[in-house]
Amino acid sequence: MLNEEMFLAVREEVTQAKAILVAITKQRPIADIRRMYELGQRDFGENRVPELIEKREALPNDIRWHFVGHLQRNKVSGITPFIHLIHAGDSPRLIRQINKDAAKDGRIVPVLLQYHIADEASKYGLDPAHPAAVLSELNLKELPNVLISGVMGMATYTDVDEQIAGEFNALHEAFTFLKNKHFSEQKDFATLSMGMSGDYPIALQRGSTMVRVGSLLFN
Ligand SMILES: *Cc1c(COP(=O)(O)O)cnc(C)c1O
Repeated sequence: MLNEEMFLAVREEVTQAKAILVAITKQRPIADIRRMYELGQRDFGENRVPELIEKREALPNDIRWHFVGHLQRNKVSGITPFIHLIHAGDSPRLIRQINKDAAKDGRIVPVLLQYHIADEASKYGLDPAHPAAVLSELNLKELPNVLISGVMGMATYTDVDEQIAGEFNALHEAFTFLKNKHFSEQKDFATLSMGMSGDYPIALQRGSTMVRVGSLLFN
């Protein structure tokens, strides 16, 4: 169930830091999303395409839907007609696929480059030590239907705040590097998506512009 008091407190804290709260509602009922909507929330995130499509059909159409988590290429076309932001641009092949499907819908779809900053094994995410490598593999001029609008990352799941802070700093550095060296002409390269239930205060301190908070908002 939605914890309204917690939701409002977290949103206030995030707004004070001039960041955007994306409420992650995967596996949460539509009634909870509707209640948050009534309380003024418009940014919601999901990590499964069928669930996202089902919820979108049941809810008001001014919601901004975010896709978080790994996206399979054969699922992309289900969300390109409406998605507000794809946080998980984790491979050149996926980004090319998004361009292709977005072109069919006549849309330009915003995508974040997802970097693997955690000290945990994962198949997904780009290498933050070489933030621009993905750009040399992609010729963005040939991909007019994607708009690379920032970066995203997930810190290690740990109690050690210094480690989390170090990982968020590394992501912020990759963001700044790309912004200055590769996107200086593009004002909308502006999103640094980092911070979840366990670490969003640290992320805000380290310059996050968008946090993705789920479990903390629910009982
Ligand atoms: C589930 C999820 C979140 C939210 O995680 P919580 O710990 O529940 O806040 C954020 N980002 C991604 C990519 C997720 O899959």
